[in-house]
Amino acid sequence: MSAIPDFLSHLNPSQRQAVEHFCGPLLVVAGAGSGKTRALTYRISNLVMRHQVNPENILAVTFTNKAAREMKERIEKLFAEQLAQQDHGKALELLAPQQQTKLRSQVYKTITKPLWIGTFHSLCARLLRMEIEKYQDEKGRKWQRNFSIFDESDVQSLIKDIVVNQLNLDDRKFQPRSVRFAISNAKNQGWNPQELEANQQDFRGRVVAQVYSKYQDSLAANNGLDFDDLIRVLVQLLKQNGQVLGYWHQQFRHMLVDEYQDTNRTQYDLLRLLATNGTDTRNFKDWEHRSVFVVGDADQSIYSFRAADFKILMGFQQDFGDGLPDGDTRTMVKLEENYRSTENILQVANELIDNNTERIDKILKPTRGAGEPIYCYRADDELHESDFVIQQIRTLEQSHPELSWGDFAILYRTNAQSRAFEEGLVRWSIPYTVVGGLKFYDRREIKDVLAYLRLIVNPADTVSLKRVINTPRRGIGKTTLDRLMNAAQELGVPLWEMLTEETAVKTLAARSAKPILQFVEMMRHWQGQVETQSAANIIQGILEDSGYVRDLKNQGTDEADDRIGNVQELQNAALQYAEENTDESLPSFLANTALASDLDDLDEKTTVSLMTLHAAKGLEFPIVFLVGLEQGLFPNFRSLEDPAAIEEERRLCYVGVTRAQERLFISHARERRLYGSREPAMPSLFLSELPRDLLQTNSLSAIPSEPPHSAMSPGAKKKKMPNTHAMDWAVGDRLVHRGFGLGEVTHIFGGGNKICLAVKFPGIGKKIIDPNITVLDRV
Ligand code: ATP
Ligand code: MG
Repeated sequence: MSAIPDFLSHLNPSQRQAVEHFCGPLLVVAGAGSGKTRALTYRISNLVMRHQVNPENILAVTFTNKAAREMKERIEKLFAEQLAQQDHGKALELLAPQQQTKLRSQVYKTITKPLWIGTFHSLCARLLRMEIEKYQDEKGRKWQRNFSIFDESDVQSLIKDIVVNQLNLDDRKFQPRSVRFAISNAKNQGWNPQELEANQQDFRGRVVAQVYSKYQDSLAANNGLDFDDLIRVLVQLLKQNGQVLGYWHQQFRHMLVDEYQDTNRTQYDLLRLLATNGTDTRNFKDWEHRSVFVVGDADQSIYSFRAADFKILMGFQQDFGDGLPDGDTRTMVKLEENYRSTENILQVANELIDNNTERIDKILKPTRGAGEPIYCYRADDELHESDFVIQQIRTLEQSHPELSWGDFAILYRTNAQSRAFEEGLVRWSIPYTVVGGLKFYDRREIKDVLAYLRLIVNPADTVSLKRVINTPRRGIGKTTLDRLMNAAQELGVPLWEMLTEETAVKTLAARSAKPILQFVEMMRHWQGQVETQSAANIIQGILEDSGYVRDLKNQGTDEADDRIGNVQELQNAALQYAEENTDESLPSFLANTALASDLDDLDEKTTVSLMTLHAAKGLEFPIVFLVGLEQGLFPNFRSLEDPAAIEEERRLCYVGVTRAQERLFISHARERRLYGSREPAMPSLFLSELPRDLLQTNSLSAIPSEPPHSAMSPGAKKKKMPNTHAMDWAVGDRLVHRGFGLGEVTHIFGGGNKICLAVKFPGIGKKIIDPNITVLDRV
């Protein structure tokens, strides 16, 4: 496969320059939809095809597991295409189906399977499965390679237990969620509990550090890691052990990272260590046979709440470029053509993001026609907004035969907004998927079966053991369990060891001991199958023999039937996993399910997608609805007083706008019921920043020509008047309302501070307005 690949013709000259880059560091910066991800994918193919790089030496990081799968498919197709031309002299699709399959499986075996493509988390989990036994934490504790990966709900309950039961603290003051968040932040900085403590000035901070320390004790006792640890522990291991680092430094000669603007410090440390073998990046000269290739867009950095820092992207050239100045073309390529969106959509995106101060200026040139105007809709409330969106979807789907449900996406700021749309979609029988709703793997029955599986693989996993020992009920009482648990803690061993040790169970009355011994025997039977049986077979054994399904059947409710369906679906997932992967073992399947993120369950071909803007990163849809553009919702109320936070919200809006290929609809409501209360809503600051000549609306005056609160926006032009005091109004006053435009006060109701105004708006009519809650500008 050494011929010059003809797929380079699918690229523009700058993309080609990036793709043909061989060794040394390279940063590709460009706006949304300019083909960064495409360039990264093609570069992997080019390294193998043209430079004969062994696929095992390539490590590529994507933002979601789904993106990783897509990237592998894309590479497989490029290679199969190339082989079809080379071996048969014709295009892949002209070959007989068996020949196509044969070519693809040959490519899979030799190229795509050996590539290391995945998210930071999945790649690190894979490396830790091989190396973790060489790691030791600051207290000298060790982990085994069959470690469990604890998900968010496991973690929250561990933390709650520590706060309430071990430290006797008030969990209203130390809410497990917020303590968890602080610990996660510390981990993303690469800090262990002592380091966190050293950085705390106040009491609360020191308590959090104490919880962190106990939390690590629990994780270690369970032979478990949380998501943040997957990266942090690997980084520490590489720092501790030069031999391990040296080995992987040799292995990963070419590293590529997509969405580099959302990298955090620990992820950056990992890259740096692997690239330079621990040498200071600026002194590292040995680029002859290796490369670091990152692509990103600082304007799309939207994960600062997870410690992502786009300054890492901004510093890339200084860091890796041997001190070359910023903008030096030896280490940077800019892409300037946008292939995704129509010109109108693009112009709206460009003008919006231009209001941010903290950014690298860049050009984004359209390659497509002007397209339709952007439609901005003002709804009365959230139900009306949902009616509008669904009406548009139905009309477009009916009038454009080329469109299917999968071509539509509804994007919102917070998950809670999905409900109104879901109700409407159900009413019209339109199939939809809520990305990031209750995940399949978060459902109770699925977590139960997974707990069985985790315990089989990792008997030290006491969290899982406690979950399943009496699920379904086996008559193992709480007092019995507490006794065994105390004994285990006394001896400092996992609970499992107390169950298997004859003596501990023997101290119990026969009636209590019997179900425990039966449970242990059953588990041992499955543990004996881990090496020889596939994950799907073991799951089938559990469903049949644990009594779990029998118990659900006995319940005989619709809900129980649903649960049975779901656990069977888990078995299907294992079967499917076996088809797609050569390693069909239980440990491998388990690692895969633990890392299946909420962004991965998108069935984009056949259903309308509903998701938050954060989940939409990197994706594209022909028709996009960007909903809920209201002050306090989007931008989010927490950002309103903080200019830097407003800039991040604006980047989020930019991400939303740039997902659209053909049509973009934006909407806002005048009133919204959210989190239980109904509130009047003001149009979002961002609406006032969009170019009016490209917008069509159902009411022009709905879009303010000036931002509602310009003090919040560094990019805004002039400071606006705050709400005038209620008592200052008089009949005959003229004012501007953000929704209705220019009006005149005709009547005043009430007295003192509690007044309402009757205002006449030409062309609209009279409206009753409460000046205490509505921003009105006197003219
Ligand atoms: P984002 O910033 O949103 O992640 P991106 O820069 O990664 O976007 P891609 O997703 O790689 O952009 O590309 C956007 C769209 O443009 C895709 O549909 C892609 O197939 C297409 N595309 C990319 N490069 C070209 C090209 N040279 N010619 C035609 N289409 C292209
Ligand atoms: Mg991309």
